[in-house]
Amino acid sequence: MDRKAEKILNRIVQNGYRRTNARQAIVTALVNSAGHITADDLADNVREKEPHIGRMTVYRTLELLCELGVVRPIFQGTGAAHYILMDNGGHHHLICNRCHNVMEFEECSAAMVMEKVAKQFNFHISSHLLELHGLCEECNEISSHQ
Ligand SMILES: [Zn+2]
Ligand SMILES: [Zn+2]
Ligand SMILES: [Zn+2]
Repeated sequence: MDRKAEKILNRIVQNGYRRTNARQAIVTALVNSAGHITADDLADNVREKEPHIGRMTVYRTLELLCELGVVRPIFQGTGAAHYILMDNGGHHHLICNRCHNVMEFEECSAAMVMEKVAKQFNFHISSHLLELHGLCEECNEISSHQ
């Protein structure tokens, strides 16, 4: 099994929940989705391989994973929420205002800001989502030629 999926399943167990075959299949499908998927698409992917797993089980497992801080829902424009993986503690997006392209980036220099805010509010941060909004390279070029 994928190391990332294994880590998430360990987290489920550490929090006192059972590692069921269904949860294993759902977490694997989630990791294979590269961490961006709607609940319905996830249910479809899981049920393609394991048709006996009900849609409700998939939704409930997503809820559990939200509670454990493994995923969180985000809304991009209209449509259903996407569930994104937060298992590394952070998730970072560049979002274009014009073409709505979402780009991922890994390197994060928000640590100092987070430390300061955490201290100020006596808040324990478990994960963060950083979204930077603006124009992508292509759209920026178009608007500078107009
Ligand atoms: Zn763009
Ligand atoms: Zn993302
Ligand atoms: Zn970060």
